[in-house]
Amino acid sequence: MQILFWDIDGTLIRSGGAGKAAMEYALTAEFGIPFLHDTVPYAGRTDYIISHDLLQVHGIDPTAENIQRLNRTYLSRLPQELHLRGGEIMPGVVPTIEQAKNSSRITNALLTGNVKEGAKIKLSYFQLWDHFAFGGFADGCITRPEVAQNALRVAQSFFQETIDPQSCWVIGDTPDDVLCARAIGAKAVAVGTGWHSKEQLLATEPDAFVPDFTQARDLLKRWKLL
Ligand SMILES: [Mg+2]
Repeated sequence: MQILFWDIDGTLIRSGGAGKAAMEYALTAEFGIPFLHDTVPYAGRTDYIISHDLLQVHGIDPTAENIQRLNRTYLSRLPQELHLRGGEIMPGVVPTIEQAKNSSRITNALLTGNVKEGAKIKLSYFQLWDHFAFGGFADGCITRPEVAQNALRVAQSFFQETIDPQSCWVIGDTPDDVLCARAIGAKAVAVGTGWHSKEQLLATEPDAFVPDFTQARDLLKRWKLL
């Protein structure tokens, strides 16, 4: 069995800034301060670290309780922001997932810095949520490598057997996706549909780089998955 672990933002979809807008809304709604400092990076990071840094840079103590408050309001605002901003599914994603799904040797799963509820809201909006058998999410995780370790544990409990990390493919749009693949000994596929350049992604030495997923069948064949 080969497992494709898909990242969400910048890889499967682009939310048109909905996630960021919902987080900024939550900061103002919960703590009564305007969003001022657009200095916190989002791409490739977990919701926990984004929330922590966002609170800190705005002078709010990033306690577990404050992070939870911020996240609760973020999640309740997220559906509205998705509807307002539209967003898009990345080119070639649907045919690639369907090709993979049709192979008895491949399972589609998620590996994301989103908490599970946020991932579900985003992917349900694009009608993609049901395509994935299981996932590693950021709930209870601080770093992406922790999410990857969690994803591997979930895969093992899903299949009720030990999973060879070399049969896992982590697909993502940031250097953090490649690094978290390495943290569990998985293969890494970098995709150029996010904000990082091809050069930045190649510098992390992924097993494969693709500009996007428009050549679904060719790609899966090249990776010896079909
Ligand atoms: Mg991403």
